[in-house]
Amino acid sequence: MNKFSILLVTAFFAVTFAPIQAQIKLDERALGALQNGLASFTFSDSDAAVLSKAGVKKLDSINKVAASNDPYTLRLNRVFGKHSNENGLQLNYKVYLTKEVNAFATADGSVRVFSGLMDIMDDNQLLAVIGHEIGHVANHDSRDAMKVAYRKAFVLEGLASQSSTIAKATDSQAGQIGNAIIDCSYSRKQESEADLYSYEFMKRHGYDVNAVAAAFTILAKLSEGNEANFLTKIMSSHPDPKDRAEKAQMRAQADGLYKPYVQKPFSNKATTQKKGGKGSKKKK
Ligand SMILES: [Zn+2]
Repeated sequence: MNKFSILLVTAFFAVTFAPIQAQIKLDERALGALQNGLASFTFSDSDAAVLSKAGVKKLDSINKVAASNDPYTLRLNRVFGKHSNENGLQLNYKVYLTKEVNAFATADGSVRVFSGLMDIMDDNQLLAVIGHEIGHVANHDSRDAMKVAYRKAFVLEGLASQSSTIAKATDSQAGQIGNAIIDCSYSRKQESEADLYSYEFMKRHGYDVNAVAAAFTILAKLSEGNEANFLTKIMSSHPDPKDRAEKAQMRAQADGLYKPYVQKPFSNKATTQKKGGKGSKKKK
């Protein structure tokens, strides 16, 4: 073989095998991540946002989303609309029409409130529960949950850890991520920290902080009654509601803000707005 032929052969191998080598490198990365129990595996906030967005899109497509003029949507607009840019988090929200008592917030800032929850909570209690869910996003619990879901839906299938891959989630992967969002269970510590976030959220915006304890008390009572099957995940992922109600009450007492909470009247039905009517004035 002359010098030219050797060059030619070298060039041939370089061109032919370069993509294969790249492929092997990606596989090694995924494999390495598996072997290391994903300890060294990078998964950013934006990865979590892209992934959860795909999951929520799937959930929106399989749940009955309340229309923009639905009384549930109108109530949520009124109660929560002003918080769609909360503490630097850009939030979008929707109501799922279902008897289930649940709510969740995801790393991309999606907040979904189940109408079953709105049927049992007054405005302040609803804010306390949503505040808790937002706490999971602010504290990065939602991102960490997505990391675990990602490993199951992507890495275990041998796919690489890249945002471009996440963006191209298949329908079944989006479904898996959606399930992971609904079934997500947080640790006791994460729950306590989200409870604290909820309390601070209520306090910061001048709402009655006693609604936090009151919301947990409702959930505790429900979990003992016949309607427990509608509670599904909000209870199993939120252990010891009585204990948590007590903690929230102790916080209110320490702040000198404690008073017994009486649930305010609320309605999820279409109402005619009385403007300037007697007694309809509310402090902001
Ligand atoms: Zn929680």
